[in-house]
Amino acid sequence: MAEKRSKPVPRPYQDTKAYWDAAKEKRLIFQRCLDCSKPQFYPRGVCSHCLGSRLEWLDSSGRGKVHTFTVSYRAPHPGFADELPFVIAIVDLEEGFRMMSNIVGCDPGIVRIDMPVKVVFEQLTPDIVLPKFSPA
Ligand SMILES: [Zn+2]
Repeated sequence: MAEKRSKPVPRPYQDTKAYWDAAKEKRLIFQRCLDCSKPQFYPRGVCSHCLGSRLEWLDSSGRGKVHTFTVSYRAPHPGFADELPFVIAIVDLEEGFRMMSNIVGCDPGIVRIDMPVKVVFEQLTPDIVLPKFSPA
C-alpha cells in the first residue's frame, strides 16, 4: 500500500511573513502601494504597478466574487488525491485585488463565475493556515 503523501507547504519569507502571520489569526491581508494607491496580491517587496517600495498592509473583508475557475479531477501532487475533485478559482476581492485559491464547502458543480464568496481558513499545519473561499 502506498504511503500517504502530505501536501507541499508554503514557506514564508521576508516579503510574505506578515501575510502568513495574519492568516494564522484568521485574517486575510493584502498590500497597497503608498505611491500609486493600487492594491496588489500576492505579497511582494515592491509595487507591481509602479515599482514603488512603500507598501502598507491592509485587512480585507474577505468578501469577493469568482472571476474564473476550473474543477480539477487529477491531483497535481499525491497529497491532493483525497480532495478530488476540487475547485481552483481566481477570486476578485471587494478591495480590488485578485487571488488564486480554492472554493470549498460546496459541491464543485454549483460554482459559477460572479458567484459571491467569503474567505474561510484551513489549518494546513500547526504553522500554516490557508485562506480559501466558500459560497457567501
Ligand atoms: Zn505603486
